[in-house]
Amino acid sequence: MKYIEVFKSYQGEGPWMGRICWFIRLAGCSKRCPFCDQKEAWKGGKKAKPIELVQMITDQTPYVVITGGEPTEQNLTGLLTLLKQRGYKVQLETNGEKFIEEESLWSDLWMHIDWFDCIVVSPKRDDLDSFHSLFRQDNVYFKFLVKSPDDIYKIFENVSFTQLYKKPAYIQPLDGDPEIAKAILEEDFPPCITKRIILSPQLHKLLGVK
Ligand code: SF4
Repeated sequence: MKYIEVFKSYQGEGPWMGRICWFIRLAGCSKRCPFCDQKEAWKGGKKAKPIELVQMITDQTPYVVITGGEPTEQNLTGLLTLLKQRGYKVQLETNGEKFIEEESLWSDLWMHIDWFDCIVVSPKRDDLDSFHSLFRQDNVYFKFLVKSPDDIYKIFENVSFTQLYKKPAYIQPLDGDPEIAKAILEEDFPPCITKRIILSPQLHKLLGVK
């Protein structure tokens, strides 16, 4: 596999926010979003076997986050199998694209979807319709980037989508921008929207850790 780094930190985003976790940051992403904060993970990376990545976890912290880049652009089955055999709780951070490709229903990813304890999908497309079969899964959550205060109108659409499945909507201001967080606070959303919003401020960046 190709990876960038393996490190321990606080999970700063999504349903595991605040938890101490090991992060396996895999290399590679073909999406090339202009606002990406992990551009160094787009290509390159060091080579390691799945067992070597697992051996880089050097203490008994039970939570592991597989992130990137876009981790699903590599086959995760070997790594996932080893992590689950060792009893880790595993979270996957993904843009979700590999789950919704035409042929993906028969992929390794779908066959092992229940092995992930938590999958956090941060869509990088506006059309959410393709994500319905993914969001039906109990272990799948959505995190939505808000790139500027002008983007706030999209929160209605995003939260309505998560509401269909009675799940919270993790809303993440780009780069933890406080102006965006304040604009969300000042917006007079109806209660059906407000009660599902969970601000996901990239806690690790606020704390100045990785
Ligand atoms: S999908 Fe994620 S990792 Fe890939 S370019 Fe976009 S923000 Fe970066």
